[in-house]
Amino acid sequence: MTCTRCGQRKAYTEAEAAALAAKGGPVLPVGVCFPCAWQDGALQPALREYAQRKKAETIRRVRELLVRPLEFIDRLVERFR
Ligand SMILES: [Zn+2]
Repeated sequence: MTCTRCGQRKAYTEAEAAALAAKGGPVLPVGVCFPCAWQDGALQPALREYAQRKKAETIRRVRELLVRPLEFIDRLVERFR
C-alpha cells in the first residue's frame, strides 16, 4: 500500500497502525506514511511526544545495561569479604 499523500513511500497498514497504538504509540492515519504523518500539524504533538518517550526509554535501557555489570561485581566482591 502506497501513501495517499506523497504516493512514494509505503503507508502504514491498519494492522501496523493498530500495533503501534497498542504499544502506546500515536494513532496514525491509515494510508499515510510516517514522514507525511509527521508533517501533519494535527498529529505532530502526539508524534513528538512518542519520539521523546522512545528516546528516553532507549537511554534508560542503555543506562540499566551499564549499571548491571557494576552491580554484579559489587555482589561478587561482597561474597569474598
Ligand atoms: Zn507519504
